[in-house]
Amino acid sequence: MRVLLVYPEPDTAPFYLQAPMECLSLAAALEGKHQVQIYDQNVDEQRLETVISEFAPDVIGVLFTMRCLAASYRIAQQFKQKGYILMAAGKYPTFKAKECIETGFDIALQGNVEETLSDFLDNLSLKYPFVDSTLTQPPGYFFKDTHGNHVDTGIAHSLDSNHYVLARHLIPQKYHRCYSHGFLIGSRGCLFTCLFCTSSRTGYKEREPKHVVDELEYVVNIEGHSAIHFGDDIFTYNPAWVIEVCREIIARKIVCNWSVNSRSDVPPKHWHIFDWMSQAGCKIVAFGIESADQKTLKNVRKGLKVEKILPVVNRAREANIGIRCNLMIGLPGSTYQDHLSSIDLMEAIQPRQIVASLCIPYPGSKMGNNPEQFGIRFKIPNWETLLEKDYCEPHLLGNIVEYDNISTAEIIQFAKMLVQRLEPYGYISISQDDRRSECPEKVIKTFMDRPKLPMVRDEAGRRDYYRRALESDWVL
Ligand code: SF4
Repeated sequence: MRVLLVYPEPDTAPFYLQAPMECLSLAAALEGKHQVQIYDQNVDEQRLETVISEFAPDVIGVLFTMRCLAASYRIAQQFKQKGYILMAAGKYPTFKAKECIETGFDIALQGNVEETLSDFLDNLSLKYPFVDSTLTQPPGYFFKDTHGNHVDTGIAHSLDSNHYVLARHLIPQKYHRCYSHGFLIGSRGCLFTCLFCTSSRTGYKEREPKHVVDELEYVVNIEGHSAIHFGDDIFTYNPAWVIEVCREIIARKIVCNWSVNSRSDVPPKHWHIFDWMSQAGCKIVAFGIESADQKTLKNVRKGLKVEKILPVVNRAREANIGIRCNLMIGLPGSTYQDHLSSIDLMEAIQPRQIVASLCIPYPGSKMGNNPEQFGIRFKIPNWETLLEKDYCEPHLLGNIVEYDNISTAEIIQFAKMLVQRLEPYGYISISQDDRRSECPEKVIKTFMDRPKLPMVRDEAGRRDYYRRALESDWVL
């Protein structure tokens, strides 16, 4: 089969651009037996129609999250019934497979299908309904049988991280100059139980430190990135593993800046990992704080004690690591007054970056299965399309969603108050990104800030993106 894997461009320019990891892991699973091409609509000069007519794929695989929902459905509508097998893959199709099929896709992949996908494609027919439903299909697939009935083989769960290979060499080299940073994953999954998170209770598995650092070397030396983000749910979960990774980076003298995600309750006996991380080039740790109100944290099963946050972030800062704090607005049971305690905490911490997002019940999270049970009510059916962006127009918010314990006016007031209270300390909003050079140290992004990745032209006048990675201290 000839397989084109497409990473669609969302309607709004993102704040950053990185290589499409999910495309690369499916490409690695198919390579050798099938002919695979990767097309990133965000950065490719060619139009999708041109790429399709030149490559002539049998299968068009579109990989997407909620952010690219509208764009992905447009692709499905545009190319359905034109002789291509349309395959939806990624986080959104995993939990909304039926919707994907009804919108025009022929097959939806659910979960980690890397081990079975190549054989699955071998057994496809080039005629509708493409999948032979008389064969027993492995977990991870959703499609229609010859009678138009839905066949759902469930979600494929596989966390064999050491076989988490990425076909990085299939990314056209020209793409890398457009990506704002390099991206890789050292461990997969999470054992915690936060109700709003799609990674909740997905298990946890690390890759061999040597394999992780081999890949880091590739990202730095071949892809040419000097700023790298580790996309692990919790990079700091296993301190011994963190130290092994850092030891390997230091031993190989790899020079790059990198950032990670972490919980904010790293136990004191493990705080020395921040020294290792700093020595190995870590410049930012993004701490998932969500709220400084204990009752709220308990409601969402965050498993975090508020009093643990400040000492941990201070210790990371002592190790010369920049702090990013992630907050969430509208968590179940949280009133306007409860939210204000998060501003107090931000004043106390004064991190380099503050990101305050709306609590959105994503498909696949506990909340996503039943938002009303958690006091979140959507007022329109296609709310996913309107909230797909990283921001929401304040005047539209009340028409889209309502939270039981905090009104729309209070949500907007909170976001404004956060900025107002932090401004005297030198913070600027990310939507004033052109002012970053005046104050690169302290940035706030709330859901009301439209993210933007400034578009520029290169010397030859071609479309290009401003490369944050070239800023000496920038990491995601
Ligand atoms: S928010 Fe963080 S700690 Fe909670 S389930 Fe998700 S990844 Fe795990």
